[in-house]
Formats: sequence, C-alpha cells, structure tokens
Amino acid sequence: MHVDNLKKELRDRKYRMTPQREQVLKVFIETNSEHLGAEEVYRYLVSKKLNVSKATVYRTIDLLVELGFLRRLQFDEGVYRYELVDREGKHSHFICNSCGMIYELKGELSPDNVMKSYIDFLKSKGYLVDEIDLKFRGICPKCAKGIKKSKK
Ligand SMILES: [Zn+2]
Ligand SMILES: [Zn+2]
Repeated sequence: MHVDNLKKELRDRKYRMTPQREQVLKVFIETNSEHLGAEEVYRYLVSKKLNVSKATVYRTIDLLVELGFLRRLQFDEGVYRYELVDREGKHSHFICNSCGMIYELKGELSPDNVMKSYIDFLKSKGYLVDEIDLKFRGICPKCAKGIKKSKK
C-alpha cells in the first residue's frame, strides 16, 4: 500500500490527509508494517527529527484505526500494537515463546480460508463474523532448530 493510495482513500472519504496522518502512515510503510506500538511510532518520528507530540501520535493512530487504515493488535498484556490493514487478504499471527518474534501467516493460511467451515457453521446459527483475529503461540521454526541442535 502506498501513501498515494492512502491519500486518495482519505480524500474519497472526505478526510483531510494532514501531515501528521501521512507521517504516521509512512512509519508503517517504511518499517514494512512491523507490529509497532504507539510509543515506537513516536520514537521513530522523533528519530527522523520530526516535530510531533506524543499525544498527537496516539490520537492520530486511534483515528487511523477508526478509518480502517490500521489494525489494532494485542500480543502482550496491556500493550497495543498496530499494523497496516492488509487489502489483499487478512493474515494471522504466530508468536514465538522463545525469541518473541511475531510471524505473519499469509496466503493459503489466511484465516478466511482456514476458518471457512467454522464461519459457515456460525452463520448457520445466526452469528455473522466480521473479523477473525487468530493468534498462535509456540516455538518458531528457527528456535525449534536451535533446540534440536543443542540437544545433540
Ligand atoms: Zn523463535
Ligand atoms: Zn501482522
């Protein structure tokens, strides 16, 4: 997703693309939509010598969530992280208990595909699913290899 697309979308929806909104979205684009917390976004902007207040960053992030540009995620207790909403299909997350890496499970593994029969089942019971938020925790392939090696 490019800033131009975002600008267009904000225009279409009659929201002004203020410099702050653009800056915050750019952080996610430049960091390849890593799962950043508001604090990290703020520090990134400061490191780029941009003059923003923490309150503005927090407010802007909340607004971008409301507008559907950012997705709010919670991996650890009490900390929200954010990522760009993926237009080409949702993904779920795998969090490694050993190294703490957050992996994105995309493509065939998209929750919409994997959970289709479950969603259909829920639909048959009258529950309409808007969003699936799947999180897996365990040991990632890299750490699993490391564990095997150290056992030898
Ligand atoms: Zn790991
Ligand atoms: Zn993600």
